Amino acid sequence: MIIEMTSVSKVFGRTRALEGVDLTVTPGMFGLLGANGAGKTTLMRLLAGVLRPTSGSIRAGAWQLTRAADRREFQRVLGYLPQDLRLYPDMTARALLDYIAILKGVAVADRRQRHDTVDALLETVALSDAAQRKLGGFSGGMLRRVGIAQALLNNPAVLIVDEPTAGLDPEERLRFRNILSRLAEECRGAVSAGGSPRLRDATLRLLEDARTDDRFPIQPPRLLADIRAALGRDDVLVSDVGLHKLWIGRAFPAYEPGTTLIANGLAGMGFAVPAAIAAKLVRPRAKVVAVSGDGGFLMNVQELETARRLGTAFVNVVWENGQFGSIAWKQDTRFGRHFGTGFTNPDFARLAESFGLPAWQIRNTTEFAPRLAHALTLDMPSLLAVPVDYSLDVAMTADLGAPVTAT
Ligand SMILES: [Mg+2]
Repeated sequence: MIIEMTSVSKVFGRTRALEGVDLTVTPGMFGLLGANGAGKTTLMRLLAGVLRPTSGSIRAGAWQLTRAADRREFQRVLGYLPQDLRLYPDMTARALLDYIAILKGVAVADRRQRHDTVDALLETVALSDAAQRKLGGFSGGMLRRVGIAQALLNNPAVLIVDEPTAGLDPEERLRFRNILSRLAEECRGAVSAGGSPRLRDATLRLLEDARTDDRFPIQPPRLLADIRAALGRDDVLVSDVGLHKLWIGRAFPAYEPGTTLIANGLAGMGFAVPAAIAAKLVRPRAKVVAVSGDGGFLMNVQELETARRLGTAFVNVVWENGQFGSIAWKQDTRFGRHFGTGFTNPDFARLAESFGLPAWQIRNTTEFAPRLAHALTLDMPSLLAVPVDYSLDVAMTADLGAPVTAT
């Protein structure tokens, strides 16, 4: 995970603790050196989401830490050892870690699994032998190691430790440093949260090139480029199941958690319309687009009545090709031919109009973006039917140089 602070300032009353801090933290170990009162603890408390900046932005992965909801999500993957961690002197190390594990929601219902986690961490910080001793008898170094163990209970992606070796003797200090180095090494070795850079570059190039591709029927990259451009970072795209889903999963850039909803797993066709209704009810101020194929759309088309009745304003974009496209694609890939995958569509615009929705049949490529922009301003659900050309291979084999499995 990459953490990025931009122009961050923090003011307490008349004291400017931090001013205009720009900082990027990449995977591995990162240290802060500075005199007492330089603002190190304030900076770490900002990173840990304990404090909010007076101005500026802090991003951790896809989360914006100035937002409360994002801060909560980030804290689930964060381990934090504050400078002044106080521990209960009458508890044993093992009992305390078990207690904190429950508070953090770690294996609450499974005592055995929780105890295994605690014992493994005691081993990591070299305290197995002292597990049943009371904390009141621990040295400063041992207490800091208990502190590290509690910070690691939720298997964090980010670990923040504030002055972890202050007041420790040289031997303890060395032991502590070794533990941190090993954790940092593990972290560097983990798969980067950003995914494959090669795939990312290829998909972004594909969308960029598609912006001027006016061929009709429309090719998927052009549709995705137009939809992405019509939506803000926080707006929501819901994908139904079909060949369009493979395209969205492969090539639609998502900027924020919970903004690209895809029915993977059970892959229920007909998911998009009800899911878009729900998305709009939960996020009434977000723009919501539901992308369906013609096959999946017809499996739940009656829910347009629900959308109309509830007044959930989202835009249905139905990609038309008169075929169960992903089934044909799979049959072609496996058997070299397909059968039983074609069907005749109704007039989708007139069908939607019969439910009382404004709707448009798209007849040329340049018409799509302005119609979508208009539909997104309406205060009721609407529909755009778009003929799509799936002749471009969704596996992007040529761009990537090797096949990438899509499911
Ligand atoms: Mg289709």
